[in-house]
Amino acid sequence: MNATIALAGNPNSGKTTLFNELTGARQHVGNYPGVTVEKKEGTYKQDDISLKIVDLPGTYSLTAYSLEEVVARDFLVQEKPETVIDIVDASNLERNLYLMLQFMELGIPVCMALNMIDVSEKRGIEIDTKKLSELLGIPVVPTIARTGKGKQELMKAAADLVGSNTKPLPLEISYGDDIDNALAEMEVMITDAMFLTQTYPARWTALKYLENDEQIRSIGDAKNPGLSAKLKKITDRVSSHISNTLNTYPEAVIADHRYGYIRSIIRQDVITYQQDQDRLRISDKIDRIVTNRFAGPLLMIAIIFGLYQFTFTYSETPVGWLESFFGWVGGIAETNLPDGLVKSLIISGIIDGVGGVLGFVPLIMFMFLGISLLEDSGYLARVAFMLDRVFRIFGLHGSSVMAFIVSGGIAGGCAVPGVMATRTLKSPKERLATLLTVPFMNCGAKLPVFVLLIAAFFAENKAMMMFIITLIAWGGALLAAKFLRMTVIKGASTPFIMELPPYHLPTFKGLAIHTWERTWQYIKKAGTVILGISIILWAMMTFPGLPETQTQIFEQQRQTLLSAAPSAVVAEIEAPDGKKDDETEISEPAQQLNDKLLAVDRVEAETALKHSIAGRFGTALEGLTQFAGFDWRTNIALVGGFAAKEVVVSTLGTAYSLGEVDPEEIGSLSDVLANDPGWNPLVAFSLIIFTIFYAPCFVAVVCIAREAGSWKWGAFSMVFNTVIAFILSITVYQIGSIIL
Ligand code: GDP
Ligand code: MG
Repeated sequence: MNATIALAGNPNSGKTTLFNELTGARQHVGNYPGVTVEKKEGTYKQDDISLKIVDLPGTYSLTAYSLEEVVARDFLVQEKPETVIDIVDASNLERNLYLMLQFMELGIPVCMALNMIDVSEKRGIEIDTKKLSELLGIPVVPTIARTGKGKQELMKAAADLVGSNTKPLPLEISYGDDIDNALAEMEVMITDAMFLTQTYPARWTALKYLENDEQIRSIGDAKNPGLSAKLKKITDRVSSHISNTLNTYPEAVIADHRYGYIRSIIRQDVITYQQDQDRLRISDKIDRIVTNRFAGPLLMIAIIFGLYQFTFTYSETPVGWLESFFGWVGGIAETNLPDGLVKSLIISGIIDGVGGVLGFVPLIMFMFLGISLLEDSGYLARVAFMLDRVFRIFGLHGSSVMAFIVSGGIAGGCAVPGVMATRTLKSPKERLATLLTVPFMNCGAKLPVFVLLIAAFFAENKAMMMFIITLIAWGGALLAAKFLRMTVIKGASTPFIMELPPYHLPTFKGLAIHTWERTWQYIKKAGTVILGISIILWAMMTFPGLPETQTQIFEQQRQTLLSAAPSAVVAEIEAPDGKKDDETEISEPAQQLNDKLLAVDRVEAETALKHSIAGRFGTALEGLTQFAGFDWRTNIALVGGFAAKEVVVSTLGTAYSLGEVDPEEIGSLSDVLANDPGWNPLVAFSLIIFTIFYAPCFVAVVCIAREAGSWKWGAFSMVFNTVIAFILSITVYQIGSIIL
């Protein structure tokens, strides 16, 4: 099949987008002969269909009032494309059908791409395409040009139209008695004179005279001056009559009747949005309170705080179950595996490492449920709306708020989509400032770190602490943005207009799906990336082992203790080997001996850990990090956290597991930290601050570099953030140490 298809439509209806979708790289841009209007041609290929496609200039009408209209119309009548696809903006159906009617009046084979149905759906406009197609008598195919949805069905419809090879009868709309009578009279004259009848239906030519179409009139003057004069005379007569009786012009009457015709079609249940108009009105009423200058922010604080309260309260029990579960699994591994590297890898590397991250799954799930509820109901859009005012002060943009929220502004997002979300910002400087500061938000990977430390040291005020963390993150991000906008990326701010979507009652299914998707991402990451990194870090904390000479010293110490004790006591602690759980009381001296032996083991394990690659590295960093209260274990965890922030938790889990020698003592990591002499609430708080601000994880850095268009910004973000983190943590720790 060899045919030409013209894409027509109002400006901004998505013609070019659809054209690009259809033709891909097979296109060619030129100019229409003699004019500066761009002409784009391409080829669509699919199975046995191959069609030449021309992107016409966007027009609202086919009357020659503008250059675009002339070009579009000339192309249609001179090149006679086999079919026209009229791209109609579904969210603006009434206005867009105006052009469609004119194709139908011209008698051109046309089919409709009902485009942007995603937008119309979002606005609560539902269009019955089948009915619309029946009423207009043309094929109607719903499309989303941006994603290419519906393009195959559309081209199939166009190809069928070409194949059927029938020219539709021109549509005849009634324009009221005055005009209809004049048209009938003119039509006869035009047909008799065969004026332009090869090109246009006679009635159409007559209509153009009435519409004052310059192009048609001058053709008439040149080709058939006698006829043209008569047609103009009739036009003048109608004009003055309409002017006298209706106080208007023929063009206006014609337009009115076209719209009347359109409305009469639409009114036949083609569009349903009554309900949504109601919903819009209700939404407006709710917004008057929810986004109120005073009540709005208070409500926002209450909602976020409530979310944290809800999450921590209801997740406590299931998190406890999971902790017991991992403890139980660890116990089984402990009793059944032979001592050695494999056992250490499984218990310390995997169960105590990854298990620590997985243990928080219920909490993460509750958090995601809350966030999904806020998002699906439309509330998050209100948060963005309210924060716009605040953001402006700090040199950011209203659209930045969404990027912040996506990155974990309330909790549990991710900086990668957050960085991507900055694409909606038009000003490059505001965009850069946004993408450099979104990593400060509480992404889902930082959550387990915060939750671990909160559980260990701030258990009485969990929700409050989480709320404080959020405030610190936002405050820091905004101040950092302000700093950047005053130094490295200076520039004016741009205005922001936001359409608030109507409120929705979230569906149970929608919430369940959203929550599960996010939770599953978390679980999957823990089972893959985090697992891999945990194993690597376990190896770095295990190798190289202590040299023979050192292990001998510890062995000697143990021997000394054993030989000094009475043999009955020794027998007591060695006898129940592997069955300690079942063991009832052992005697006082046996207990003491056991403790002494464990103390030796503990020192040996700790010495081995410090001797390992990671241990030495972490210890070397202590020179700087001690000022923030971090020891070598925390240092390893933080360096590992650059790969992914969850690794901070898994690494601490592994490090404390390797250092723990008494299997009875393995408790949850938060209990271990709470009871460790090296830790206290101040250290924990300092670590929380550091975790909020230090370098984004590796993937986020790559993303920042790509979106900012240069590796320099990726590197900048790593250095800038880590420096801020150090300054803040050291300040907090030093001041805290003085006060406490
Ligand atoms: P043209 O003026 O008719 O060529 O329109 P364009 O193709 O330039 O599209 C105008 C805008 O609408 C662009 O920003 C497109 O990305 C967007 N757009 C086009 N089609 C769709 C669609 O189906 N859905 C949505 N949401 N946007 C669309
Ligand atoms: Mg265009």
